[in-house]
Amino acid sequence: MFSMTILRSVLRVALLGGACFASGFEEKLEAQSPKELIFVEAGDLPIILTAPHGGSESIPGVSKRLGKGVDKFASVSDVYTDKLAKKLADAIEAKMGNRPYVVIARFHRQYLDANRRARDAYESPEAEEFYETYHQAISDARSEIIRRWGRGALIDIHGQAADPKVIFRGTQNGKTTKHLITRYGIDALQGESSLLGLLAKQGIPVIPAVGSSEHENPSFDGGYTVITHGSSDGGTVDAIQLELGLSLRDLKANGETADKIANAIQEFSAKYLPGTEKQSPQDLPAAKGNRTTGDLSGNGLRVGLYVDEGASASVENLLSVLSKFDGVSVTKLKADDIRSGKLAELDLLIQPGGSGGGQGRHLGEDGRDAIRRFVKSGGGFIGICAGAYLASADYSWSLNILDAKVLDRQHWNRGKGTVEISITDAGRKFLGANDNKLSIHYAQGPLLAPGNRPDIEDYETVATFETEIAKNGAPEGVMKGTTAIAKGTFGNGRVICFSPHPEMTDGLEQMVRLAIDHVKRQKSE
Ligand SMILES: [Zn+2]
Repeated sequence: MFSMTILRSVLRVALLGGACFASGFEEKLEAQSPKELIFVEAGDLPIILTAPHGGSESIPGVSKRLGKGVDKFASVSDVYTDKLAKKLADAIEAKMGNRPYVVIARFHRQYLDANRRARDAYESPEAEEFYETYHQAISDARSEIIRRWGRGALIDIHGQAADPKVIFRGTQNGKTTKHLITRYGIDALQGESSLLGLLAKQGIPVIPAVGSSEHENPSFDGGYTVITHGSSDGGTVDAIQLELGLSLRDLKANGETADKIANAIQEFSAKYLPGTEKQSPQDLPAAKGNRTTGDLSGNGLRVGLYVDEGASASVENLLSVLSKFDGVSVTKLKADDIRSGKLAELDLLIQPGGSGGGQGRHLGEDGRDAIRRFVKSGGGFIGICAGAYLASADYSWSLNILDAKVLDRQHWNRGKGTVEISITDAGRKFLGANDNKLSIHYAQGPLLAPGNRPDIEDYETVATFETEIAKNGAPEGVMKGTTAIAKGTFGNGRVICFSPHPEMTDGLEQMVRLAIDHVKRQKSE
């Protein structure tokens, strides 16, 4: 947990340095993390299970919805659908040998209805990030499925009170499964081998009836999730909403129901989905790397790490930090690899600590151009210390992808040690932190300031230096207030630069993970 690791480092520093931090830091961070209230699990099947309405938790700072002017307003939860979705994931794994992707809301619908468009979904602005996180997790799963298998299915689990024994289908009368129908014909939606047909085969009554082309019940015909993430507007992931009666989902029945739905999904997959039999995901190119179950948002990310001239020994430390992140595969890159087009296979590039000039000169004009083109077209860039000098727009050898100049250039060797940084409002949002100040290892990174170049987007300040190091003749008072962490865009790509070293600070390693998730390739597939 990022919040805990930050806390640990803050406490440790507070103890060591006698510094005093705002109380309640831990509670706020814990309580406000969307990760705590949204269950997300990566899978190894081209199937996503979602359940937006089964949660029971309140969202701190978010008031209950009143629903004024909201079409089809509802705030009653679909009880037990959260548990059913988990059981279904287990049953699918038991039968098919692999798990589906899972996204389950743990918050109660009274505070946020994740199955509505944003303006109808919540009333407190504090709920927005939970809403966005929920749908981003689904989008990420969807993108990964397309990358790994080319196509897939989303099944959105709900509860209805109209008939306790029945499952209603919701696909906007086939719109959210447009791709499936185009590819396999209408039977894939309505016939015996359709998902509902196979549920009926398991003994569960379904509406519309198998083989009929009657319209779906307008109360259960598919909501925001299937409309947004299904194939209505193109794409190759089909989405089906299932509305289960209470006697199918209560605690007595949900094991058996999960089993039956898993049987239906297995048979459906064998006929209509790729990669669900013996095609192991390891055989697929995009699945290489050490991906495991965990935080979905970064799964299968291909990170390039510069390890050539100008990279210091600290790159080993960075490698070991990266190796602990789930779903991140690292490719070591020489300047030659970059010049010869290797970046095209990657989601982002990290330039590590060392010498900015050393890296820039060794890359040469061609290498630097290759990086600029990569970021411009949507690739991500993270610069740490020397990598931040490299990204700046201040040297003959710099990349000019961050609109930053470097202050007091002549005293670059101002010393190493622990400094305090203060996180800006934008930074708090980006880091998911609530305040404030952090201690971090510093090793002669750049003192960044806005470069005011008309041809590069202005950067956003994530953190500024609150204390300074001024050795070797460096004047005092210059470092304080300069930018310690900057976040910018260059063309379609995103750039994050750290002057200090989160990867060398106990407890702040997760900052690198957040940066990876933030800058990962932006071009959609
Ligand atoms: Zn529902």
